Amino acid sequence: MSARVIDGKAAAARLRFRVAEEAARLKREHGILPCLAVVLVGDNPASTVYVASKNHAAREIGFFVRDIRHPASLPERELLDIIAALNSDASVHGILVQMPLPEPIRTHAVIEAIDPAKDVDGLTPLNLGRLMIGETTLERGLVACTPSGALMLLKEAAGCDLSGRHAVIIGRSQQVGRPMAHLLLQENCTVTIAHSRTAELATHCRMADIIVAAAGHAELVRGDWIKPGATVIDVGINRISAAFGKTRLTGDIAYTEVLPNAAAVTPVPGGVGPMTIACLMRNTLIAACMQAGLRQPEI
Ligand code: NAP
Repeated sequence: MSARVIDGKAAAARLRFRVAEEAARLKREHGILPCLAVVLVGDNPASTVYVASKNHAAREIGFFVRDIRHPASLPERELLDIIAALNSDASVHGILVQMPLPEPIRTHAVIEAIDPAKDVDGLTPLNLGRLMIGETTLERGLVACTPSGALMLLKEAAGCDLSGRHAVIIGRSQQVGRPMAHLLLQENCTVTIAHSRTAELATHCRMADIIVAAAGHAELVRGDWIKPGATVIDVGINRISAAFGKTRLTGDIAYTEVLPNAAAVTPVPGGVGPMTIACLMRNTLIAACMQAGLRQPEI
C-alpha cells in the first residue's frame, strides 16, 4: 500500500477560486471590496516571503491590500497605535500582523489589540474562546487559518464524518495545536494533544487514526509510528541541510517512511502551507461580510 498524497496546492487553488467568486458577488451586489491590512515589522526572511505570498494571493482574488512595513526598531507603542488606527478604519476588513514579532515587542499585547471582528488570523482571545465553546466553527466565524486549512484537507482525505476517530495532535501552540484540537473535538474526534513533555509519543501516535504534526521538529514522526490506514497531516515547515551545501524544506513527518503505512498524507511543501493562505483569504471575505451584517458565504 502507498498513501494517497493530499494535494494542498490544488485544494488551495479551488478554495481561492471560490473566494474570488464570492468576493466578486459582494462587490456586485453590495459595493464592498474586502480590504486586508498586512503588517510586517522587521525583515525576517521567512516572514518577508510569507507576506509577499499573502499580498499576492489577496490581490489576485481582487481584494484591496494595505501593505504596511516597519523596521524592527518600531516601538511597541507605535505598533499598537497602527493597529488602533486600522481597527477604527471602516475601509479595512481584516488585519494580519505577521509573526514572529521582533523583541521586545510583546506578541500577546499586539494580538489582543486587534479588533476581534477584523482578526482574520483567528488568534485573539475572544475568537479562540468562541472556538473553544463551540460558538465559532469552521462554517461560522473566524478560525485560525492553519488549523482551518488542515481540517479541510483532512476532511477531503478521510471523509467528512470524523466522528469517533482518535486524533493525535503534536504541538499545543496558540496558532496551530490548540485551535486544531477544538476543531477536531467539534468533529467528535477523541483528541490527544501531545507536546515536548509528552512521554511515549510514538505509542500515542501508533493508536491514532489521524495525526496532525505541528511541532516544528524535522521528521519527528517515523514510519513505524503510523497505524496502518491512518491519515497524516504535516503542518511542520523546517529548513534542513541538503546535498552540495544547499538546504531544503521538510515537514515534521519522515515522509518516505510514512508513505507505505498511511492511507493519506500531506506533503511539505505543497500541503497545509497553501491552504493556510487560502484560508486567510476566506477569513478576509468572511470578516467583510460579517462587518456589513451579511450572511457568511458557504465556502
Ligand atoms: P510553536 O509555537 O513552536 O509550537 C510547537 C509545539 O510543538 C509546542 O507545543 C511544543 O511543545 C511542541 N513540540 C516541539 N518539539 C516537540 C517534540 N519533539 N515532541 C513533541 N512536541 C514537540 O510552533 P507552531 O507555530 O505551532 O508551528 C509548528 C510548526 O508548524 C512549525 O514548523 C511551523 O513552521 C509550522 N507552521 C506551518 C504553517 C503552515 O502554514 N504550514 C503555519 C504555522 C506554523 P511545548 O509546548 O511543550 O514547547
